[in-house]
Amino acid sequence: MVAPAAARLSLNTATTRKQWNLAQAIEGCARHDIAGIAPWRDQLHTMGVDRAAQAIRAHGLTVTGLCRGGMFTGVDLAARQTAIQDNLRALEEAHALQARCLILVAGGLPTGSKDVAGARAQVREGIARILPAARQARVPLAIEPLHPMYAADRACINTLAQALDVCDAVDPLGEGGIGVAVDVYHVWWDPNLQRDIARAGARRLLAFHLCDWLVPTTDLLNDRGMMGDGVIALPLIRSWMEAAGYDGLHEVEIFSNRWWKVDPDLVLQTCKERHTAYC
Ligand code: ZN
Repeated sequence: MVAPAAARLSLNTATTRKQWNLAQAIEGCARHDIAGIAPWRDQLHTMGVDRAAQAIRAHGLTVTGLCRGGMFTGVDLAARQTAIQDNLRALEEAHALQARCLILVAGGLPTGSKDVAGARAQVREGIARILPAARQARVPLAIEPLHPMYAADRACINTLAQALDVCDAVDPLGEGGIGVAVDVYHVWWDPNLQRDIARAGARRLLAFHLCDWLVPTTDLLNDRGMMGDGVIALPLIRSWMEAAGYDGLHEVEIFSNRWWKVDPDLVLQTCKERHTAYC
């Protein structure tokens, strides 16, 4: 029997964050036979890590990632040290949830800085610092390159190639515990995307995030499209992921002022239908 499409799906709770708290999102996934969930830490802290872990386990959901760690850049050592501590806490939480990875959003330019190369060096250093703890917790770190429009304020790692270079730099012997998250919203435009998905290979492809790129896009953060409503060649990118050996779940992550106004059960139903039809 062919597994229903929902069996390949995971819900990134950003998709329903204005309508549902984490407990409701967990129930929603179970109700819609969605196989996985990717919680955000603010909602996780509100629910409580133990309670969330218990509810997720009770429903047999796979945690495709914990969002998020990272934000390694800072104006001084103290700021960067605070970030390290927060990432270590995030790893403990991800371990408690048996998450498949901890999503890392690198961090942008420190306040007042124009040194993007320096910011990237800080990111490499931060990731190297937490990698031993990630290995110990058996929670791999997934560097998520963000679209270059976020380079200043969110993430100075903007292409898959850059993310993979960081992986190579901090894990030169290929011991593992480090990889990438491929979010179509951030990387669909990259002329080297196919090449770099192949370069990552199954070992470093830790997560696959789905949505669509709307034309026009009216908000840089909160106007992501539902799959099928935009211009991303989703089946093509999926085929590259699968050719590289990725066999994990497909995580729907839609930050959208529009979809946040829709009945969340209808959002999940639409995600399932669109995933079947357009991905
Ligand atoms: Zn993402």
